[in-house]
Amino acid sequence: MAVDCVFCRIIAGDIPTPFLYHDEEVVAFNDIHPLTPVHVLIVPRRHITSLQEMGPEEAPLIGRMALLAKKLAADKGIAERGYRLVINNGPEGGQVVPHLHLHLLGGKKLR
Ligand code: 5GP
Ligand code: ZN
Repeated sequence: MAVDCVFCRIIAGDIPTPFLYHDEEVVAFNDIHPLTPVHVLIVPRRHITSLQEMGPEEAPLIGRMALLAKKLAADKGIAERGYRLVINNGPEGGQVVPHLHLHLLGGKKLR
């Protein structure tokens, strides 16, 4: 856990946030500033700064995150209509929170 990391604090329960899903490796919760009607963040419990820091041993984790996004899209009723998965990486990639996360965006037509 990184004490100054907002997602680590959410995972530790310091910032009360309802989880849409949780298991021993990942959690999912609604984005506080949703860009789309459905905007879920899928976050590994372990503090990994970004995709850039991941090695081949973490391939299963990314796979789990992507499949969880698919499940949550179905739970939210947008699986058939379509949705977008985004991982922002680094400052020019638009990453603001330096704890790896996958955005699930949908519920409207995305451009
Ligand atoms: P990034 O730009 O790093 O890919 O995305 C970070 C996301 O985290 C943003 O969409 C932002 O709204 C969301 N976020 C930041 N702080 C919090 C928080 O305390 N709670 C929740 N639920 N989302 C947050
Ligand atoms: Zn963290």
